[in-house]
Amino acid sequence: MVAKAFLPPIDEYKHKIEQIWESNWLTNCGVLHNEFEEKLSRYLHVANSTLFSNGHLALEAAIKALELTGEVITTPFTFASTTHALVNCGLTPVFCDIDLETCTIDATKLEALITEKTSAVLPVHVFGYPCDVYAIERVAKKYGLKVIYDAAHVFGVEVGGRGIGTFGDVTMFSLHATKVFHSIEGGILTYDNNLLTREFHLLRNFGITGPDVVESPGINAKMNEFQAAMGLVNLPYIDEEIAKRRTIALAYRAGLRAIPGIIYLEDNPGVKHNYSYFPIVVQEEEYGLTRNAVHEKLQSYNIFTRKYFYPLTIDYPCYRGKFPGKLTNARYIAERVLTLPMYGQLTLADVNTICEIIKEIRN
Ligand SMILES: *Cc1c(COP(=O)(O)O)cnc(C)c1O
Repeated sequence: MVAKAFLPPIDEYKHKIEQIWESNWLTNCGVLHNEFEEKLSRYLHVANSTLFSNGHLALEAAIKALELTGEVITTPFTFASTTHALVNCGLTPVFCDIDLETCTIDATKLEALITEKTSAVLPVHVFGYPCDVYAIERVAKKYGLKVIYDAAHVFGVEVGGRGIGTFGDVTMFSLHATKVFHSIEGGILTYDNNLLTREFHLLRNFGITGPDVVESPGINAKMNEFQAAMGLVNLPYIDEEIAKRRTIALAYRAGLRAIPGIIYLEDNPGVKHNYSYFPIVVQEEEYGLTRNAVHEKLQSYNIFTRKYFYPLTIDYPCYRGKFPGKLTNARYIAERVLTLPMYGQLTLADVNTICEIIKEIRN
């Protein structure tokens, strides 16, 4: 499989949820929820954090709390959630091309897309590789733009010794079961400005401030105690999970090194990666097969890979033709990218087999 959710020893989870039976408190900011929020702040090295039921609703809450208007510059090389969040909040996504080295938004192309309607930038850290956070910060400062990062892929990543969640105005992490670290479903916003905390708390719970008071039209995006319990039990395993994935990534790189036309990402200096995915780019001219052919041939060996991200969000039927965008690099990558199986329990023998098959099936 391309991914496999991490599950802790079942007894540890059973033990943790016994507390829920004792307290009879199932949701609405229970003891486990608050403990989880605090522990995540510490692990991510951030000043403030607010938990949500999932990453997508957290992202929409961030957009609403920052009161974005008009146009927001973003990337089409992402999961549906990022673009949908903007559109669902009544904003116009303006698509910027990506950088071929990291598959993240090309910060040198941001300025040309800014208009008097631009209120923010919504970049996405991709595959465990951070955006050029310093360049984005410079542009945002110069033009007075807000920055919200979609950090669904980069839990635990650090840049220059700083937690990735400390960059920009607000950062969203997804804690979905398929991510490196999860609480079954879940999301968290991290931010410096503690004035945002009250706004996020209102948004995630219907805007309710007291027994008889509803202050604003919020939504329901609360994390429950069973999710928090899973997160708390998983947290002590995260460093080990990332270490295992690192070993797997190094084995993939060694196994694929000598194959012409198979490109993969190396570690970036000064970055602590989390190895959330192992993407390759298939160059047909040198390798002899297209990405789609590799995807199908591997499937015939029961090796399941994923065309991720493909298609670009701008090419979804619901968005096609609606937004302009010169997206040469994004299209190049989306047509050639394939993520290989990556999860802590994957054996090095399996990694070697996968590399051998990729070597053998080329024409
Ligand atoms: C998973 C993901 C999301 C959405 O997170 P959920 O917790 O599933 O709502 C958003 N953006 C990206 C890039 C993702 O991979």
